[in-house]
Amino acid sequence: MITPNMHYADLKDSYLFFHIAQKTKAYLEANPEKRLYRMGIGDVSLPLPDAVIQALHEAVNDQAIKESFHGYMPECGAPFLRKTIANYYALRGVEISADEVFVSSGASDELGDILDLFDRGSSALVIEPAYPAYVDANVMAGRTIVHLASGKENGFLPEPSEEVKADILYICSPNNPTGAVFNRKQLQAWVDFANENGSVILFDAAYEAFIEDETLPHSIFELEGAKTCAIEICSLSKTAGFTGTRLGYTVIPQQLVRNGMNLNAMWVRNRTTKTNGVSYIIQKGGAAVFTPEGQRQIRENIGIYKSNAKVLMEALDKLGIWYCGGKNAPYIWMKCPDGMGSWDFFDYLLKEIQVVGTPGEGFGACGEGYFRFSTFGSPEDTKEAARRLVELLGKK
Ligand code: PLP
Repeated sequence: MITPNMHYADLKDSYLFFHIAQKTKAYLEANPEKRLYRMGIGDVSLPLPDAVIQALHEAVNDQAIKESFHGYMPECGAPFLRKTIANYYALRGVEISADEVFVSSGASDELGDILDLFDRGSSALVIEPAYPAYVDANVMAGRTIVHLASGKENGFLPEPSEEVKADILYICSPNNPTGAVFNRKQLQAWVDFANENGSVILFDAAYEAFIEDETLPHSIFELEGAKTCAIEICSLSKTAGFTGTRLGYTVIPQQLVRNGMNLNAMWVRNRTTKTNGVSYIIQKGGAAVFTPEGQRQIRENIGIYKSNAKVLMEALDKLGIWYCGGKNAPYIWMKCPDGMGSWDFFDYLLKEIQVVGTPGEGFGACGEGYFRFSTFGSPEDTKEAARRLVELLGKK
């Protein structure tokens, strides 16, 4: 009998969103007259910008005509999109070439697939609280995981430490779930640490477009030495509403070499073996995001999510509650009041004011006692949720 990958038996049940769905369902069944204010969702609520829609329509029409029809696309991405993305980096002073950009179907796919580049005996460091896929993808591969807890004392932005080393280092900035963003000095410390130890940083930049403080790095390649130690994984999901359309990109510098192996060349080999590229239509839609009109339109949408963040931050400020995130990220990470546990606070908000958020404990043990609000909901619901929060917690 075949032996399946037994590491799957080591996975913990991914109960967070399942448990939330169960609790909200039970509440609505018991209270059918109530309406919920969902501040927990990680999906966007605004549609694709018009520039993208137009490009998608044009690309569909191209596929109807023999002369403009596209069959298989290059596995690593269409040259027009790879070049466009390289130019986007150049705008911020980061010089990368088109062949260092790989077009993907999204960050989730890449975060899982990219692990093919590393030996299964290598270890992975995950800064917690964390996006759950980092741990799970490595558990599936049987890797040793080093957990680095972060907390309020370091603003959820821990420094590297000689005591906590690993081969693969996950850094997500702006962070999901905490919304915290590494500044240049802090991120430089991680780059230096990775170079000194021969580690590779997997830099998850899914939320870079939400940074408004321009002193903060959008890309790890803004830091000196990053090209010899980092891979950057990006997504148009939250930037441009592509959660259901699926498009992302990954940057692997030519200088990234370990044990005589060029990781860019390895990834070319991997992609040409394991994919047949992203659809022509979707790549055309993606390229429209980087046009001046596309950029203007995505900024407008991001602006709406940012207004939601402002409303929630004002509510928490009024209540004197500690939080991070919100300003440069679409998530707000708050300390539960009166020492309440994450799930107790979840139940309390659901029962008293019908506001649904995400218990911090679901992102790692050190998230216990914290709670995540997402800013991707509608402005109307966000305002009402904030009003209810102030009314409820202001009484305490
Ligand atoms: N990385 C982080 C930190 C995320 O929060 C998410 C989605 O929520 C992703 C990656 C996945 O993005 P994509 O939709 O591109 O797969």
